[in-house]
Amino acid sequence: MADAEYLTVQQALTAVLQGVSVLPAETIPILDALGRVLAQPVIAQDSLPPFANSAMDGYAVRAADLTGATAETPVTLTVVADIAAGHPSDVTLQTGMAARIMTGAPLPAGSDAVVPVEDTSEPWRSPERPLPPHIKIFRQVQPGDYVRHPGEDIEAGQTVLEAGHILRPQEIGVLASLGISHVQVIRRPKIGILATGDELIPVEEPLTPGKIRNSNGYAQTAQVKALGAIPIPLGIARDTEEDVRQKLQTGLDAGVDLFISSAGVSVGAYDVVKAVLETEGNVNFWRVRMRPGKPLAFGTYHNIPYIGLPGNPVSAMVSFERFARAAILKMAGHTRLERPQITAILQETIHSDGRESYIRGIVRRENGTYTATLTGSQGSHIMTSLVRANALLIVPEGITEISAGSPITAWMLDWPETVF
Ligand code: AMP
Ligand code: MG
Repeated sequence: MADAEYLTVQQALTAVLQGVSVLPAETIPILDALGRVLAQPVIAQDSLPPFANSAMDGYAVRAADLTGATAETPVTLTVVADIAAGHPSDVTLQTGMAARIMTGAPLPAGSDAVVPVEDTSEPWRSPERPLPPHIKIFRQVQPGDYVRHPGEDIEAGQTVLEAGHILRPQEIGVLASLGISHVQVIRRPKIGILATGDELIPVEEPLTPGKIRNSNGYAQTAQVKALGAIPIPLGIARDTEEDVRQKLQTGLDAGVDLFISSAGVSVGAYDVVKAVLETEGNVNFWRVRMRPGKPLAFGTYHNIPYIGLPGNPVSAMVSFERFARAAILKMAGHTRLERPQITAILQETIHSDGRESYIRGIVRRENGTYTATLTGSQGSHIMTSLVRANALLIVPEGITEISAGSPITAWMLDWPETVF
């Protein structure tokens, strides 16, 4: 097979991303929106804080009354009100007056600052304590001291979150503070997951000669779940076009947005996935200059995008990681589609065959730099090499050796996109 028939990883990724679209939006309760991508900007209807309130337990005062106040020369004020959080007072402070006030309680009219309770002659902490008729203040304050101003955090009318923003717990809290109970987010992609191969048996069944358990179906389902997408398991298809079609029909009936299958895409006599795509869809490409994972089918089945991963468990997971992950994130409205990448110092020499290689590695932080070692055997059937790995070390296209001590790009498997 001539080299021209193979795509580079970049070319393949570009084709995959062109072949999938951002899904439509849906409106859902904010608590269901964790990890989702906003489809519309959020405009504040209220200011936050909504009213001037005290940042401390203490006394609301007029700052000008306290000029020159110290512990030795305190200023005595008349206490005219007791203001708890949630209970606005209609009192207006005149010169010489103070109001006892709790954290979060609205400032009374006429006051412009708060003195913390520790700087007064009544350092109580309990609201049950009787209100003193007078209070000695041991310090002066500036207007605005210990006051939380309306709109200090968010002004009414302001765009608080832009479309495309990923909702984390702090965004959910902001939405709640603004009285927004529902948001418009991009729909979660539904991913049909099919394993193919006559040798596969379900996980629950005992092993019989020549058979292996369908681990890919589980690994890809978990990969889909980890992205916040909805897996639709389509089971195991035998190595016949008929059975592959039948299982894919279940996915069409369930309205999947993307098919992901494993195996059946190389040149073996029973590699039927490609044949099925050729007759009832189309094959955009099926070979990538990548290691592990040379055979990779991308196309459509009945107009639904289709990614056919290689069968070997490590190849399937790494190809998912490189291509399917980016496709699913794009469909879900994300714009950062790649894992965080860092530079680490390679501790042992790596050889490659010139294909872009994704070597299972362990990145550690040591003495202020990142170091990278290999997880041992790189066979594409050695699943425990991925269990030990926390990174994929990338050997670029055309490079056949990276020697110990050289920098290498590490694709961090467990770091979230927000690390960059
Ligand atoms: P194939 O792409 O069909 O040539 O398969 C390549 C290798 O992956 C073979 O050793 C298969 O037995 C193995 N394999 C295929 N599908 C699965 C699966 N679902 N779970 C575990 N191993 C698989
Ligand atoms: Mg096979």
